[in-house]
Formats: sequence, structure tokens, C-alpha cells
Amino acid sequence: MTTSTNHSARGKQPSADSVDRIDCRLYEPPRHAGYESVRSFSPEDIRKRNRRSALRLLYPRRLLSRADIAKLSGISKSSASDIVSALLEDGLIREECVKQKHGPGKPAVAFQLAADARQIIIVDLSNEHKLVGALTNLVGDIQQRIELHVEQITTDDVLALVGRLRDTADAPLLGIGLSSPGIVDGQGTVHAAPNLGWHNVPLGDMVEDLYGIPTRVDNNANVAALGEWQFVDLTSNLAYIRLARGVGAGTIVNGCIVEGSRFAAGEIGHVVVDEQGTMCRCGKRGCLETLTSVERLRARIEADPSQRERIITQAGASLGRVLSLMIAMNDIDDVVIDGDHEIIDDLFLQSAQFSINEHINEELFGRISVRYPRLGNRSSIFGECMATVGDHLR
Ligand SMILES: [Zn+2]
Repeated sequence: MTTSTNHSARGKQPSADSVDRIDCRLYEPPRHAGYESVRSFSPEDIRKRNRRSALRLLYPRRLLSRADIAKLSGISKSSASDIVSALLEDGLIREECVKQKHGPGKPAVAFQLAADARQIIIVDLSNEHKLVGALTNLVGDIQQRIELHVEQITTDDVLALVGRLRDTADAPLLGIGLSSPGIVDGQGTVHAAPNLGWHNVPLGDMVEDLYGIPTRVDNNANVAALGEWQFVDLTSNLAYIRLARGVGAGTIVNGCIVEGSRFAAGEIGHVVVDEQGTMCRCGKRGCLETLTSVERLRARIEADPSQRERIITQAGASLGRVLSLMIAMNDIDDVVIDGDHEIIDDLFLQSAQFSINEHINEELFGRISVRYPRLGNRSSIFGECMATVGDHLR
């Protein structure tokens, strides 16, 4: 087992790990919609709701006075004042500047979220032989990054990496977010992750029981989609496709992650697209994975390097045909394809894009562009951070 660590000074993040331009909002998963409307509220419930409301308004870098918070959230000025005092006491906001009003009169004090007031531990299990851990602040800036190289990822590796990140934290920890391949339910159990060899692993409970810190677990493609959506365009319907050993997809439709009734939405790798195709590890022939997985494509190219261009073009076209249905079903307007750039290169993306546009109705959907993730290999980490922050500040 080998490790590598990349330290970056707090408050002085390098541009590669910085997300200063983000215009994100706190993510609210669909299953919570309407939940509060059927309950009666205690004064404590109302106080918590007003507090979340104020934080949501200030997130990520908005500057507001007490009067602004009262007006925008619809609460009384005295309630807004109480919330601001409580948040100042908790260190979650700070007085940022004094806005001078026009003409004579008392200056108004403005407040801003204290982004470094809490830290979040993130572990990404997306890579087969590498665990990536990060310590972030409240707005997704990576302040510490640790990679753990392993033969096969085990739960002990995850627990150990969380422990190392916890030991380096220099602010109170808000929560832990774990991003796993496979089918992950809403309770933090990884039901099936064939690439990890995991079945029914209660990962969230294991981490939370050991460290006593609230922990959530998400499908890695779903949170990568969330990360790209939060970072690039909050108005888009987005599909994020990850090609590695398998094929996984995450979609954001009307501002929500699509999870499905079995938490299996986006598991498109074993959909048969060529009945006469080669045998898949699932026992069927011609699954999408047999045509587009990076592992398969690499093996085919190594066997006959002179056919590289044809192999990549065909694979991109196969994926594009499948994506055209997904795009039409959900009116997707932002398509992200992620994978090892040695294989998932410009030629692959161009071929996928051409194929998509050949198979959909341009009058209805316009021309679809396909892109690499804007966050590079940090999409899952950033998305997991946004989901975790959303749990606590929502
Ligand atoms: Zn299959």
C-alpha cells in the first residue's frame, strides 16, 4: 500500500483545487419535498428552519444585512437578528464589511458565510486501485488531499483514510461524504458494487459508528453529475457518463438527482445494444459495457493498434445511440463524458456527439454538445461535498 499527500495552505488554495467562481445553491433532494408541510412545528423547529433559510440565502458567498435576511426569507426583523447572533456565535458567519448608506444615518452591517468555519471529509471510491480522500471547506475548496493506492479497496481502507483526514482537520467537522460505485441506497448501504466486490455493505453506518460524525454515501456518478451541474449551469438538465471498467451514468433533471425506485437509475452498462455482440461478464451478449468500457477498448487497441481510430469511433457512436434515448427521455441539454483520456479522447467525444445528433430530432432538442467534466477528476468530490453541506445547512 502506498500513499501520497498533497497539502495546500488554507485560505490560499491553488487554482486547480479552487472553485471560487461557483454560483451553487444548497442541494435539496426530491424525497424531502413537501415533508415539512404535513407536520406541526415546535418553536425549535421554526428556529431551525429560519436558521437554514438564512444560511441558504448567504450560501455560498452572498453579502446580506439583517434587514436583507428578514426581507428575503420572510421572517421578522427580530427573528432575523436572533438568527444572525446565533450564527455569529457558532462561527458560521462573519461580519464582512460595513455598507455606508447614502446620506446621513447609521451604517448597515453585512454578513457572509464563513466558508472555512467547518470542514467536510470526502472519500471517493471511484478508482479501482486508488482511494482519493479530501478535506474541504463549506464551499468545496479542497484543503487537503490524500491518495491511498491499494490492490483492492476494502472497508478498512476507507475507515483508515477517514481517520487520517480527521486527524488533519483544523476546523470542526460538519460531516463525512463517501462516493461509491454501484447501487447505494438512501441509508448509506452499498447494495451492489461489483467492481469493489461488495454486496450489502453498510458503509455509512460503519464510518459513523467508528467516528461519531454524520456520514452519507452516494453513487459516484450521481454526485459527479451533481458537482458538474452545481459548478457549470444550475438551469441545465445534465447527463454525466463515466466510462471505466464499467459504464455508469448520473442525471440531474429539473434540479434533482434521478435515483429511481431501486436507486439504480443510470445503471446502463448492462443494457443489450448488440444481440450478436461479444459475451459480457453478466452472462448476456452485446451489453453497452462490452462496446464502450475503457478496459475493453484498451484491450482491443493493444491487440491491433492500427485499428485504433476505427475502434474509438465505433465505440463513441455506440454510446451516442444509447444516449440519444436518454437525452430525449429527459430533455437533457448538457452531456458530460468522463474517462481515461488515453481512450476517451476528442475523437471519442466527437463520434458520440455526431451519433447523438444523428439520432435525435434537432427541431425539438437543438444541437447537443458533448463535453469533458469541467471539474476534471474532482467532479465526484465536489458533488459529494455539495450533497453533504446540503444535508446540514439545508
Ligand atoms: Zn452485461
